Amino acid sequence: MKTKLTLLLCAMLWLMPANASEWTVIQGNVASIEMDYAGDTLSLTCFGKKWPLKAKGNNHWQGWIGVDLKTKAGKHNVLWRSGKTVVAEDFLNVTKGEFRISHITVAKKMAEFDKPTLERYYREVKVLKATYTKQVSANPDIIMFGKPIEGIESTPFGAQRYVNGKPKSPHSGIDIAAPAGTVIEAPLAGRILMVADMYLNGKTVAIGHGNGLVSVFSHMQSTAVKQGEWVKTRQKIGEVGTTGRSTGPHLHWGIRFNNARINPESIVNVQ
Ligand SMILES: [Zn+2]
Repeated sequence: MKTKLTLLLCAMLWLMPANASEWTVIQGNVASIEMDYAGDTLSLTCFGKKWPLKAKGNNHWQGWIGVDLKTKAGKHNVLWRSGKTVVAEDFLNVTKGEFRISHITVAKKMAEFDKPTLERYYREVKVLKATYTKQVSANPDIIMFGKPIEGIESTPFGAQRYVNGKPKSPHSGIDIAAPAGTVIEAPLAGRILMVADMYLNGKTVAIGHGNGLVSVFSHMQSTAVKQGEWVKTRQKIGEVGTTGRSTGPHLHWGIRFNNARINPESIVNVQ
């Protein structure tokens, strides 16, 4: 009996990597994780996707993982590989986010669509969604240098939306209220992936920042960039407005990180 128990314990110890770390992150946030590894090549995998890494010197590495706001709470595996060899296995402990409920009331035509409007809506969403997975040559960093505008946050990230009393998709960005005409600046350099005038999102710009990061800015009064153009950090991309389904002048800013919906605030000016 004793031998069996010892064998079982040995087997369990053998299965557990010696240097496993556990990182805790809230749904919809970016986990910043670290690793000590003496080698030139290292990759980071979680949720079946590869995530950006940075060599910090002295065999120290930093990596970032985007946790979609609907990721199941609980433990998820994090694999560090050199080539095909797994050199370490960590865990990401995802905890539940506290998301507010948000009710808005809009004109009927902005809540219930006729067939041509619905077709237009699907066509536009398809074009926007295609930008989320476009590869752009990487910036050295994933950190936003600031918010695109200053203002009051009118709807937080992740809020469960009700439009005219009906539940919709959760709010995949933050809404910042500011006067119409306020200049919107790129929070990080990148390539303009899309400029469009959408039925619900209004005048919209998508920027690919590299490293799988894509920012989307909506409800603009005017846009100041062209598709394909490269923009610098803090370059003007447009002005605040209330185009599309909007109840007042504000900027909607959403970020996809390897297609995960993340809170932009989790990567503004943090290391
Ligand atoms: Zn919004």
